[in-house]
Amino acid sequence: MSKPVRRIGVFTSGGDAPGMNAAIRAVVRTSIHLGIECIGIRRGYHGLINGDFIPLDFKSVSGLSRRGGTMLYTARSEDFKAKEGQAKAAATCKLLGLDALVGIGGDGTFRGLLCLAEQGLSVIGIPGTIDNDIACSTYTIGFDSACNTALECIDKLRDTIQSHERCSVVEVMGRHAGHVALNVGVACGATAVLVPEQEVDYEKDVVEPIRRSRLSGQTHFMVIVAEGVEGGAYGVAKRITDETALDTRVTILGHVQRGGTPTSRDRIAATYMGYEAVHLLSEGQSCRVVAKQGNEYTSFDIHEALAMTKGLDPQTYTVMRTLTGVQ
Ligand code: ATP
Repeated sequence: MSKPVRRIGVFTSGGDAPGMNAAIRAVVRTSIHLGIECIGIRRGYHGLINGDFIPLDFKSVSGLSRRGGTMLYTARSEDFKAKEGQAKAAATCKLLGLDALVGIGGDGTFRGLLCLAEQGLSVIGIPGTIDNDIACSTYTIGFDSACNTALECIDKLRDTIQSHERCSVVEVMGRHAGHVALNVGVACGATAVLVPEQEVDYEKDVVEPIRRSRLSGQTHFMVIVAEGVEGGAYGVAKRITDETALDTRVTILGHVQRGGTPTSRDRIAATYMGYEAVHLLSEGQSCRVVAKQGNEYTSFDIHEALAMTKGLDPQTYTVMRTLTGVQ
């Protein structure tokens, strides 16, 4: 029988994502409901090594769900990857009387949690990343907000490329995963969408859809490129200019996609996930990642979760190929 959890530390780590604050709020309020104390560790593993914490009570997370970013700040810590850093972090947990940790972040954050589980702490991970690239979960906190932010920018760009009859190449986030590019591409009605999961055949995937669109009477073109696509947006734009002589402009959306007010989908997913994380701990569970599968919230063993792989949603990919006219 595992020891009952009396005090939880919650932190955010890796890249920030809209909705992380709603997850923090849910962790704090669920803890209070279950008679568990909760403190916030600031700046991820960096803060855990340095004892950078704040007490969190009911009032301190009031009004937090609608705020972008993370009230606990986030960081990447090289020091934590070394055994010495992990020992310091474990010592901080002991000093603060923590029995358990909830880490909100991506795969790297979950790997870090496993190191602390080896030191005797109960740990739970919550998938928070705009990339939607956590394999065990069909959804990650921040994805919907990031897609909506990108869409808003792309809609504005479309007005100007339509007026000037240009081709726009827009780079969206996704170094290794094309989920944002694919979803945004489908939602904005892109002429072509390029993702890092698929090797690009310029003639088939870009030039031919532009040509077909031009022949149908269209005079402006929107090409969405995930940042991890070889050559990036500038490489793609050069190929388009070389092949079509269209007036082609590049826009890199960049970090703007990480900010802003979280959408209702992100607030709700984050709230359920925070609630679920604390319930898992109160049931004596550890080393689990909270996950969304369809409409259900569940959890996976962290080792199992890290061994899983996630491809693009095949249905969305097929719809995109169909609507852009790629054979
Ligand atoms: P994102 O998807 O936004 O990149 P992430 O959680 O994957 O989020 P990382 O930078 O990979 O982001 O990891 C966050 C932190 O977790 C790292 O800075 C490091 O402190 C810790 N971490 C990552 N990998 C490991 C590992 N293998 N062992 C111990 N700690 C790790």
